[in-house]
Formats: sequence, structure tokens, C-alpha cells
Amino acid sequence: MKQMKAVVQFTAVMAAACMAFPAMADRVIDADVVVVGGGAGGTVAAASAQEAGLKTVLLEKNGYTGGAGNFMEGSFAVESFMQKKAGVKLTKLEEFNRMGEYHHWRINAPLVKRFIDESPKTIQWVWDHGVHWKEVKSVWADKKDLTWHIYPAAGSLPAAMTKAFTKAGGTLLLQTPGQKLITKNGRISGVEAYDNVKKEKVTVNAKYVILATGGYNFNMDLVKKSTGQELVPSGAPGRTGDGIRMAMEVGAVGDNMGPMMINGAFNPLEGEAICNGPNKELRALFRQSQLYVDAAGNRFFNEQLTLDWPVASNAILRSGEWTYIVFDQALVDELGTKGYLNPCGNFIQRGQKAKELPAMIEAGIKRGDVFKGDTIEEVAKKAGLNAENLKRAAADMTKFAKQGRDDQFGKDKYYLRGVSKAPFYVLRGKLHTLASLNGVKVTENLQVVDAHENVIPGLYAIGHDAGGVYGDSYDLRIGEGTASSFAINSGRIAVEHIVSLEKK
Ligand SMILES: Cc1cc2nc3c(=O)[nH]c(=O)nc-3n(C[C@H](O)[C@H](O)[C@H](O)COP(=O)(O)OP(=O)(O)OC[C@H]3O[C@@H](n4cnc5c(N)ncnc54)[C@H](O)[C@@H]3O)c2cc1C
Repeated sequence: MKQMKAVVQFTAVMAAACMAFPAMADRVIDADVVVVGGGAGGTVAAASAQEAGLKTVLLEKNGYTGGAGNFMEGSFAVESFMQKKAGVKLTKLEEFNRMGEYHHWRINAPLVKRFIDESPKTIQWVWDHGVHWKEVKSVWADKKDLTWHIYPAAGSLPAAMTKAFTKAGGTLLLQTPGQKLITKNGRISGVEAYDNVKKEKVTVNAKYVILATGGYNFNMDLVKKSTGQELVPSGAPGRTGDGIRMAMEVGAVGDNMGPMMINGAFNPLEGEAICNGPNKELRALFRQSQLYVDAAGNRFFNEQLTLDWPVASNAILRSGEWTYIVFDQALVDELGTKGYLNPCGNFIQRGQKAKELPAMIEAGIKRGDVFKGDTIEEVAKKAGLNAENLKRAAADMTKFAKQGRDDQFGKDKYYLRGVSKAPFYVLRGKLHTLASLNGVKVTENLQVVDAHENVIPGLYAIGHDAGGVYGDSYDLRIGEGTASSFAINSGRIAVEHIVSLEKK
């Protein structure tokens, strides 16, 4: 019942978006496969389908392909040739069971198993398409089970896939959002779309539709409904839940929808994501495991977790719309001379010296997201925090640093720094999402099913349009890079399934 209500709310929110498209003359294209959404998963699916000899149309809402896939730094796999070279011993079966446990088995186990099994083949397949992995690594210094395969450059995968797709003869329609699924004789038989360049309706008739619209982290109503807050969306816009809405209109159901891939808190700056962008040295402060306080000036979690940003985000989400980090001049000096304590994505490395930080702090003060004071009272007043609480939190942290032991939450000694050397600083931030997690229910072959587990013939959902992959949080700690990797692997698996059906 609860799920039903959620579906009704979801389709109502999404219906409003569709009203914007007027009915016009029809352009009709006949194809075997139509892929809706040209991001990480969609471009891979489209290239795979066209290379397999299926006449394929790729619809993309934006004026460029790639979606959030233009931002991804690295993808997950187990038992890849890169891992073998690096001496990683982790096996596919071990990883599968670790994932099940991490997500408390609130996952579609056959799907996750299929994904992990496909992952090493995909690493090779991507390499064979000219995208040469730089290395396999982890953000944790002591981790041996490395899974994060780093791309040669931002956007390299979707660019290579788009090229492979069009070179093989595929039809790419940019600025042409898919709007509605077409049903005929009990199966999905195509998509209605709208070409925003030519201002005309486009009907693509196809035996198979692959939904790859990247979930809904840019749909503020839905994000607020599932998290209670309007989290700041990062990466390419356009990911407003269209694929999930279209699938639900033909009987699909959500599979544990609601969790988000929340990348921790950052000061919201237009066009900047994670620690990439002109202010990266300032934004990297959010990943240094220093004192965090809530709007009342109270410490609220073990900041050591900031490296494991999905779980840190869960703690920060509880503390209100804004979160605040508090530090002193000694920390600024230390980061400038000895370097960062933690990396931030692959953009700031552990030990990298924060040369630009003092200038960025000054710019942040002018912009209004950094506050500075000669006393804790002064900085608390400027940041709008309770001075008494902040004084206590700073004094506690100074004591913990001196004694080398965090009596409150047990933060590792490596991160313990006092807040005692003026001037004092407060930097405020909001939680940022990279994507939504979990869409509609699918089989291990990515076929969309209805509420009774019956396959909706002809319909597939991949990437963040598919559900059953995550429990309540992103699984960074045990599988760095699963979001992009699931998108890519699910695209390949869906096409492999279509090819197998066509051979019958
Ligand atoms: C800053 C940033 C860094 C990231 N780093 C990593 C990383 O290092 N490792 C990792 O695993 N993941 C990372 N991710 C997440 C990763 O990018 C996503 O998991 C991945 O891109 C998901 O692929 P997708 O195909 O589901 O969606 P996307 O790649 O987002 O593609 C969806 C596409 O669908 C289009 N679309 C939407 N609606 C329609 C419609 N109606 N019709 C047609 N097209 C439509 C969108 O415009 C978009 O192009 C990162 C994300 C961000 C934002």
C-alpha cells in the first residue's frame, strides 16, 4: 500500500513535467532497439546493441551525451586484468557476499551476482574500445582489495561509446527526451519523444526499449520526499526520473527506491562537484575529518567517517540543512606545509600541499561561506552558531588532541587536532548528491517486472533507473565505483539478453 502511494505520488510529480511538451506532427523511426538516455549506461548499451547488428536509436535529453558519466573518476570490478596485475586477491564470490552483508541482503541477489560476474569482462571490453584505465586504487591508504579502476580522463568513457555507436551506424538524437512508452499487443513497442531542436514529436518504433535516464537526483520534490531535505544535485542536469516514471506508467514498481548517493557536505558552488573545480583546495577541507558541528554548535559524529562519505552523509543528514566545520590557523598552516590528511576523490591526494587554501579562505569570507574570528565567540556569532556550545566543542577537541584520545566518539589519533590557535574559522556546507540509488524492479537480465514479478515484454531499465542494487546507502567502503560500474555492466547485460532472445 505504502509503495502504491509512492508510485501515485511519483507519477503525479512527473506528469507535470510532461505537460510542457505540445503535441505536434509525428516523425517516425523504425528500429530494433531504442535507448532512452545517453549517459554512462545508455551509451554503452547503444554501442553494444549497434555493434551486435541491432538497428539502434539513442535518445538524449541534453545537447550532449554523457550525463553524470562525464564526471565519473573510476569504476568497480572484481578479478579484472588490472587487479591481477596489481596483485589484488579479492574474488567475485567474496565480493558478492560482502555486498549482500553490507546491504543486509535488501538487494536483488541474482542481479548483483550477475553484475559482479560481468565486471571483469567489462573492464577488458572498455579497454578494447580505446579507454585505457590509468590504475586501480582506493581512497583508503591501507586497503588491499582495490576495486576503483581510474579512467584516463573525465568523460572518456561516454565519449568513446558515443563515437563507437555513431561509427557503427547508430542514430543519435540529442535534445530529444523520451516521454512515453508505446504498448502494442501486450508488449512495449517503442517510445514517444520530442525533438527540442526541430520542435517535433518523434515516434521510435522498436521491439526493445532500454531506459537509462540516470534516476532522479535533479528532481527536488522526489529528493525531498525521500530524504527530508533539498540536497544539492551535482553533475549533469536532466536526471529528473523520466525513465522510472515511464516504466511505472506501464506497471513497473519501485525496488527499494529512496536511498541517494550522497557525496558528503560541500559549500555549494555553481559548476563544482566533489573536489573538482577552482575551489577544490577549500572544498577538500570537508574531507579532512576535522571538527563538524550542527546548527547549534554541537559536535555530532566521528568525523573520521568523512572519507567513507556515504555513511558520513547519513550522519550529516540528521544534523539539519547546513553543517559546519571548525578549524584554526594551525590546521591551515599544517595543510599548507605538510599536506592534506585525506584525499578528496581523485582530485586532491593525501599529502598534497594546500598552497592556495589561504587565498581561497579569504575569497570564501567575501562570498559568505567562510567565517573568521579572533575568538571562538566571534566566529560563532558570525556563523550564526551558539557560542557556548561551540566553545565547549572546540575545548573538547583541543583536549582530545593533547591527550591523543577522543573520549567522545573515538576518532583515530591521526586526525586529532586542537582548535586553539587564533584566528578561528568556520566553513559551512550542504549535502550534495551524485545520483539517486535504486529505480524500478528488474530481473537479473535487467528486464522490468510488474508488481507480480511478471516481465513487461520488451522493457529494460539500467543504471540508476534499475532497483535492487543498494540497501540504504552507497557501498563505497566495500566497492569503490559500483554506481558507474553497475550502469555500464547493466547496459551490456541488457543487450546480451536482447541478443540471446533475437537468436532464438
Ligand atoms: C561528480 C560526480 C562524480 C562521480 N564519480 C563517480 C565515480 O568515480 N565512480 C562511480 O562509480 N560513479 C561516479 N559517479 C556516479 C556515476 O556518474 C553514475 O553512477 C553514472 O553516470 C550512472 O549512469 P546512468 O547511465 O544511470 O546515468 P547518467 O550517466 O547520468 O545518464 C543518464 C542520461 O539520461 C539523460 N536523460 C534523462 N532523462 C531523459 C529522457 N527523458 N530522455 C532522454 N534522455 C534522458 C540524461 O540527460 C543523462 O545524459 C559520479 C557522479 C558525479 C555527478
